[in-house]
Amino acid sequence: MSELRTLQHFIGGEPTAPSSGEHFDSINPATREVLYRAARGNAADIDAAVHSATEAFGDPRWRDLSQTRRGRLLRRLGDLIGEHAEELARSESLDNGKLLREMRGQLATLPEYYYYYAGLADKIHGEVIPASSRQILNYTVREPLGVVGAITPWNSPLTLTTSKLAPALCAGNTVVVKPSEYTSATVLRLAELVIEAGFPPGVVNVVTGLGPEAGQPLVDHPGLAKISFTGSTATGARIASAAAARFIGSTLELGGKSPNIVFDDADVSNAATGVVAGIFAAAGQTCIAGSRVFAHRAIYDELLERVAERARSIRVGDPLLDDTELGPLAFEDQRNKVASYVDLGRSEGARVLTGGNATDAGLGGFFYEPTVLVDVNNQMRVVREEIFGPVAAIMPFDTEDEVVALANDTEYGLAAGVWTSNLARAHRMAGRLDAGTIWVNTYRAMSPMSPREGFKNSGIGVEHGTETMREYTRLKSVWINTDEGPVPDPFVMRS
Ligand code: NAD
Repeated sequence: MSELRTLQHFIGGEPTAPSSGEHFDSINPATREVLYRAARGNAADIDAAVHSATEAFGDPRWRDLSQTRRGRLLRRLGDLIGEHAEELARSESLDNGKLLREMRGQLATLPEYYYYYAGLADKIHGEVIPASSRQILNYTVREPLGVVGAITPWNSPLTLTTSKLAPALCAGNTVVVKPSEYTSATVLRLAELVIEAGFPPGVVNVVTGLGPEAGQPLVDHPGLAKISFTGSTATGARIASAAAARFIGSTLELGGKSPNIVFDDADVSNAATGVVAGIFAAAGQTCIAGSRVFAHRAIYDELLERVAERARSIRVGDPLLDDTELGPLAFEDQRNKVASYVDLGRSEGARVLTGGNATDAGLGGFFYEPTVLVDVNNQMRVVREEIFGPVAAIMPFDTEDEVVALANDTEYGLAAGVWTSNLARAHRMAGRLDAGTIWVNTYRAMSPMSPREGFKNSGIGVEHGTETMREYTRLKSVWINTDEGPVPDPFVMRS
């Protein structure tokens, strides 16, 4: 038997043992086998990482690097990720149980995020502002913030880390990442590739460990200039108030309970596929899961039948196999959470049309059957709260006004899907739905070029696109008086 791998933090460009000497097991959720042991970080490790990032921020090798050269490093990093895509996809699939096919897809596009921000690096600049006098030159400068803390979840570790890392580096910041305790491996590997790409040591640091032990000290560290977080709304709320109390900015990408709406003028076959993609892809473990399905009453039965039939035929099993369609939940508590939500739904009066059982898929892991709940309404907890698993609640509606009200009656506002062949309705719905991303006749589409923002309890701030650069820079306004004449009245404000 080969010896179990023991992973360390990555601080100052090097693997660094945890100050406590402690490690914890990382489990393959498909089989319950221990994959490796990760370093159990604490406040002392976070302090060392923030110190390293602070030094790197002031290091002329990083601080004085031209923006064009910064872009070149990002491009090189994108290339390296592309060269290691298969290794990273496999590692990520083993760690969180998502389909290898899905992770290969994510890894195939991941370099594009770095290329996008590589191209943007030398286009970050301020402006000259018209002043009231020709003797005044007023211009703005966009500066990096300093040390950015990035805290990420387990469902798409590299993609969600990249959404923060690429723009943060593009702007000239340095970063301390605290990945999810369920998926430490690939983010550590990414940090090695950062060094291989030529970034100076300390520009990117990774401390692994548990939320309260390693995440909280990062959020509370006085050396941090900003915190960027993706995860649950409950943790996000805590982070937002800690950041606000210290007057540092926070970007928060949080939970969702997204509506996926099928009108009677839609191509029902395509819509059914879109509903399946929205909730059963990635075993429902995506923030944008279309977990509330609203079907127009005229096509409700047909849609239900198609979705239920497809759900019943989904191949549940080993995520590494090419023909598997649904892998496990990422860890045991997550599977238990899904099971207890379905039980709660039953007790609230929901009917389980298909699924509704935990299984080990013959592999020993934490699987749950693709599940469709009917006889549900918008007041039930199972329809209001994020389950983060393969559980769709399907409800009929009669009118556009009614479905807009139902879709918007949620604490969340991350995404929404609309299936219609009516162009006017598509635009109308895009305007009326209270969510940061609207998909019409598609679902789960994402690009580094397209900004996304969570409305309501789904978050604060923007990720992706040029818009996110505001989150990682600060704006300085410089006034230069070129008038060498006598100073005017000191008691009057100047412009
Ligand atoms: P989580 O909030 O439990 O954990 C996320 C990260 O925060 C982990 O690294 C965890 O260790 C850390 N953490 C936990 N407690 C902390 C604390 N007190 N201080 C600092 N850090 C702490 O979320 P999760 O279960 O890992 O992820 C699932 C959630 O993420 C879902 O709600 C999902 O919708 C959301 N999500 C959102 C997006 C988005 O872009 N909006 C994308 C993916 C996932």
